[in-house]
Amino acid sequence: MSGVQFAENRGRTVVDQDAALLRGLFVDGRWRKPAAGKTRIIACPADGKQVAEVAECTDADAAAAVASARRAFDGGGWPGTSEKERGQVLLRTAELLERDKALYARAEALDTGKRYVEAEYDIDDIAACFRYYGGIAGTDAGRVIDTGVPGSISRVVYVPVGVCGLITPWNYPLLQASWKVAPALLAGNTFVLKPSELTPSTSILLMETLLEAGLPAGVANLVTGTGPDVGAVLSESADVDLVSFTGGLATGINVMKSAATTVKRVALELGGKNPNIVFADAHREAALDNALTAVFLHSGQVCSAGTRLLVEESIHDGFVAELVRRAQDIRLGGPFDELAQTGPLISAAHRDKVHAFVQAGIDEGASLLCGGYIPDAGVLSVGSYYPPTILDGCHTSMKAVQDESFGPVLTVETFSTEEEAIMLANDTAYGLAGAVWTQDGSRAQRVAGALRHGTVWINDYHPYVPQAEWGGFGKSGNGRELGLQGLAEYRETKHIWQNINPKPSHWFEPPQAGVQQ
Ligand code: NDP
Repeated sequence: MSGVQFAENRGRTVVDQDAALLRGLFVDGRWRKPAAGKTRIIACPADGKQVAEVAECTDADAAAAVASARRAFDGGGWPGTSEKERGQVLLRTAELLERDKALYARAEALDTGKRYVEAEYDIDDIAACFRYYGGIAGTDAGRVIDTGVPGSISRVVYVPVGVCGLITPWNYPLLQASWKVAPALLAGNTFVLKPSELTPSTSILLMETLLEAGLPAGVANLVTGTGPDVGAVLSESADVDLVSFTGGLATGINVMKSAATTVKRVALELGGKNPNIVFADAHREAALDNALTAVFLHSGQVCSAGTRLLVEESIHDGFVAELVRRAQDIRLGGPFDELAQTGPLISAAHRDKVHAFVQAGIDEGASLLCGGYIPDAGVLSVGSYYPPTILDGCHTSMKAVQDESFGPVLTVETFSTEEEAIMLANDTAYGLAGAVWTQDGSRAQRVAGALRHGTVWINDYHPYVPQAEWGGFGKSGNGRELGLQGLAEYRETKHIWQNINPKPSHWFEPPQAGVQQ
């Protein structure tokens, strides 16, 4: 039988592994062959080698997945369970993810090219997300309202939205999926997950883990393939009640437009162009070290990457010179290169886009301080690597400052007053995240309060916890993931009024003679 699904070093036998079945289309709790019978080769961006072969689905397959989720929802089994029961499935999923951490981390590292150790951190975070939502099960059953009307009971309760279409990107494939899947399940929804065509492997594994954790067949469905072919079905279908999308701005706008025709609920987590503000009184070593991590972690393929350094004029020269020296020392390498500090970009096509972005920045007046080239020799020329790149002399009228590169590219701007720093930091269409570095506690709070960004770090960069909401202002999206609001996205709110002593209201009784109306 052709179409072995995962390379030898990837495979493992879990749940309903019939080796003859190609993974990718998961419907009604089992793997199905895609209608058109097509497959896609997944290659590791570090060296271009094949790591998996998966189903390449079409719109008919996506429709089958939606129908499965619809049946599972309308059948009432899963939505009818108690939240506590659903929480148990999530907690069990967290345990299984920890048990299978090496398998998941390997799959994630091979699909994305990221370092294996970073993929392990991702799996920890994914398990933590399932554990958080599992842990809050049953803690909020709604509210009882004091109506002021004697003999009435008024309750506000939560019910699931219905069938959820979940569309995810390639940078943190399973992490982004977990932020949607865990709260969607806790709330009692069924779903169809559509991962990026480039990084489907861990989403495939998750289907099997969820079944093993006790999730009934049909509640979780998966469809692999391209956005236009299968993702669009999720935003357009009248049988999908909610679409939650993480990805780029242009795609997010398309998703929102096509979802409008069915007036489904839409949650968008889009890009960011995130300011990292360093005042002259900042702890120099911590600010330098974190300025590197802010932008070059995962080679800049992070929506919250600190891609805009705003540095106080008086320390600019020394600070930026040291940053450049350290950026040039960052070692690139593949998932299992123990000396590597960061990996390749997701594809050669994406690397070429990042390079064009840098060239355009230079053309509009930025000074290239380091990086800015495509490696053309040695191991780095085999994968889609791009070196840490710093552009100085930037200002907010430049596209390099306004547009997302989603690569290892830092732009440097300067400011001389607190007001100017805030004004520059907010001069963006996005509003996902930002940071401020200063040892003046009052200033730190003032600046944090004034930034129009969904997450603000003070003297830190990147930490997040599943208990705290994540999401953006402006064109960084709408809605929130994680935290209580991340659960609310997947709940409908319903008001139930009961009159415990019903009697006629006499509203429409004919007027009686002599009675003033
Ligand atoms: P894309 O917008 O290209 O794709 C995201 C997902 O949407 C993919 O699964 C893609 O499928 C799918 N898609 C593409 N076209 C359509 C369509 N017409 N209808 C429905 N779905 C579609 O983003 P990337 O994958 O390139 O991810 C990078 C972007 O994601 C960056 O802009 C980044 O900032 C953002 N992001 C935001 C995060 C946040 O929390 N705010 C977190 C992580 C990333 P396919 O690729 O298979 O064609």
